[in-house]
Amino acid sequence: MNVTLWGTRGSLAAPGPETARYGGNTSCVEVRGPDGTVLALDAGTGLRRLGAALPRGLRRVDLLLTHLHMDHLQGLGFFGPLYNPAMEVHIWGPASTTQNLWARLTRYLSPPLFPVHLRDLPCRLSLHEVPCGEFEIGEFRVTSSLVCHPGPTVGYRITTSGATLAYIPDHEPALGARSFPIDEDWTSGYSVAAGVDLLIHDAQYSSSEYATHIGWGHSSLKHALDFAALAEVKRIVLFHHDPAHNDDELDRITAEAVASARPPFSVTPAIEGTAFELGNNAFALGANQV
Ligand SMILES: [Zn+2]
Ligand SMILES: [Zn+2]
Repeated sequence: MNVTLWGTRGSLAAPGPETARYGGNTSCVEVRGPDGTVLALDAGTGLRRLGAALPRGLRRVDLLLTHLHMDHLQGLGFFGPLYNPAMEVHIWGPASTTQNLWARLTRYLSPPLFPVHLRDLPCRLSLHEVPCGEFEIGEFRVTSSLVCHPGPTVGYRITTSGATLAYIPDHEPALGARSFPIDEDWTSGYSVAAGVDLLIHDAQYSSSEYATHIGWGHSSLKHALDFAALAEVKRIVLFHHDPAHNDDELDRITAEAVASARPPFSVTPAIEGTAFELGNNAFALGANQV
């Protein structure tokens, strides 16, 4: 499977010269299977470029939302396939106890927040509330599980022949733990991430910043590395960078966290445009910039 990072920022898009290397777009990741199935993970502002880069002739795309915070939704109205009558678009997202997915998405995709109403989009649109369990999309087996973050939020575990990816961009597994990590059975997100080839995980804060943001739903870099160690992943991508962190700060806090934790797996800070190739018993890190 091929994994491309189209948006790596959390909370708010942060374009500018000080963030040019890591990128300013919010959460969006593309996953392509060997047979051509295309998944988009989250609809942050990176989704616009993802939509523009899809292969000609593609007739179906599945968009998997972890939750509906704006930094994971703001690109949705600018996703080209929504305006193509020949395109089948499936949007998957977590259920809520208050309103269904259609009603919750319409709060953004309707005036006055957006000029086009969800019901008027010309594509063939289907909405699905994700089951908490396993389901199939084309060649992928997908498992979703609720994780610790404000509001209904899931993480995704995505498997195809010979490769498994976990995507948990907004996650605070250390919340409520006297010391972290704790026992795996009591750790939010553990089953999503256990043993994966690549884990894309929340790493919004430095340890000192986390101390003043407990309960905000995010991880420190240290907690992300501790979580990855508990789950025995092969590689972690540190994702959902705080909008206040510029390129030099991200270099520094990543180096400090890795030097302190000395993890037995590879650590890669998420850089917009990076592509990874997973599978066939060989894990190649591609530094291909799109
Ligand atoms: Zn977020
Ligand atoms: Zn969030």
